[in-house]
Amino acid sequence: MAHQDDFDHDILILGGGLVGSALACALHGRGWRVSQVEASLPQDGAPGFDERKLALALASLNALQALDVLPRLATPPAPIRRVQVSRVGDFGSVRLEASDHGREQFGGVVLARELGQALESRLRDCDGLVRHRPARVTAVHPGAEGPEVQLDGEAGARRLRTRLLVAADGTRSLVRAAHGIGVREHDYGQTLLVCSLATDQAPDGTAYERFSAQGPVALLPMAGGHYGAICAVAREEAAQVLALSDADYAAYFQQRFGWRAGRVRRVGARSGYPLVQVVAERLTAPRCVLVGNAAQTLHPIGAQGFNLGLRDALTLAETLSGADPGQPALLAAYAQARSEDRAQTLAFSDGLARATANASFPMHVLRSMGLLALGQVPGLADPLVAGAMGFRGRVPALSRGGA
Ligand SMILES: Cc1cc2nc3c(=O)[nH]c(=O)nc-3n(C[C@H](O)[C@H](O)[C@H](O)COP(=O)(O)OP(=O)(O)OC[C@H]3O[C@@H](n4cnc5c(N)ncnc54)[C@H](O)[C@@H]3O)c2cc1C
Repeated sequence: MAHQDDFDHDILILGGGLVGSALACALHGRGWRVSQVEASLPQDGAPGFDERKLALALASLNALQALDVLPRLATPPAPIRRVQVSRVGDFGSVRLEASDHGREQFGGVVLARELGQALESRLRDCDGLVRHRPARVTAVHPGAEGPEVQLDGEAGARRLRTRLLVAADGTRSLVRAAHGIGVREHDYGQTLLVCSLATDQAPDGTAYERFSAQGPVALLPMAGGHYGAICAVAREEAAQVLALSDADYAAYFQQRFGWRAGRVRRVGARSGYPLVQVVAERLTAPRCVLVGNAAQTLHPIGAQGFNLGLRDALTLAETLSGADPGQPALLAAYAQARSEDRAQTLAFSDGLARATANASFPMHVLRSMGLLALGQVPGLADPLVAGAMGFRGRVPALSRGGA
């Protein structure tokens, strides 16, 4: 058994993206020696803190409020008061109203860059948190008594030993690979184009999702009178669509989305993200645990990735206890606590993505997922809506808010 002084940290979080940073906030003040390693420069923001628009479930808003992150956002979340779901070639649409479920909103939309800045501001106030940034972990050596990481930073190369190593290092996690944890991977063969967009109708709290054989298209209400637009295109067409002029992209988006939100007037710069699902075969190894995209990277269509990753982080913070947070029983309890929410969210996101990406996928599949009957049969929407709001499985205490 190693002596306490052999450890540089009790908990080392590799990754300063949305999930690793939220975890560092949630662990603050619990008495452990916590450190975080992030490769990017603070002034650049982590790679995930970009112009993507994040639909945050109500449970996530509750938690970010409790963690004192939400009040630091430059722009408050734009509320999602209703969701309208439609499909090209099918008559009508499904409309879900938050007020029908006793809520003012299902969630809210924020800019990932601004959420990153709010987290950064919060982390600066976390006394005692040791931040290695910019620094890169170049090697991970698993160990039953405590893993060691090789760190390459401004102060040169060094090795750090920790009682618990948290992999918050994203889709291509080095920690996961070093611990021999395999993945199930699926490439959807599509690229998601993301931009800001304005139409001649100001957003009124409606989030639109439109499915077609070409892939999903969605509009999220944003502050400032514009929308966050996402549009999936076949991978082989992505470069061509990305190269369209603003006017041509506006016309392309209009043709894909239709007229439910009015005439597209302006579009902003587009970025493209390849759509893959990467799911770790297990969540733990001796003194090591996976959270966020390192644990599972989802198709963004269901807007579940960060919401799910935040619940990973909150559940981990709730589960860890005692002088030795890397004890096997604690990690087993974490994996157990995450299993239901994880399985259901993965099934929902993947089912939605595959159903909408496949031209021959009939509408009755969406119907069987409950999407069409939702608007018609009272009560049927509740489990799905509760899940979309983040109240699924064992709900972390910080997410409950007034729920
Ligand atoms: C277009 C798009 C739209 C999305 N929309 C939504 C949405 O509406 N709602 C939602 O909930 N989710 C959404 N998501 C998903 C969400 O963005 C991700 O789930 C989330 O950003 C994952 O955060 P993470 O911290 O787990 O991983 P990452 O953001 O990948 O962070 C990992 C961090 O680890 C660092 N790192 C990695 N390796 C090392 C190393 N060896 N040394 C040092 N540092 C390292 C990286 O620099 C990085 O900052 C969307 C995703 C995309 C692509």
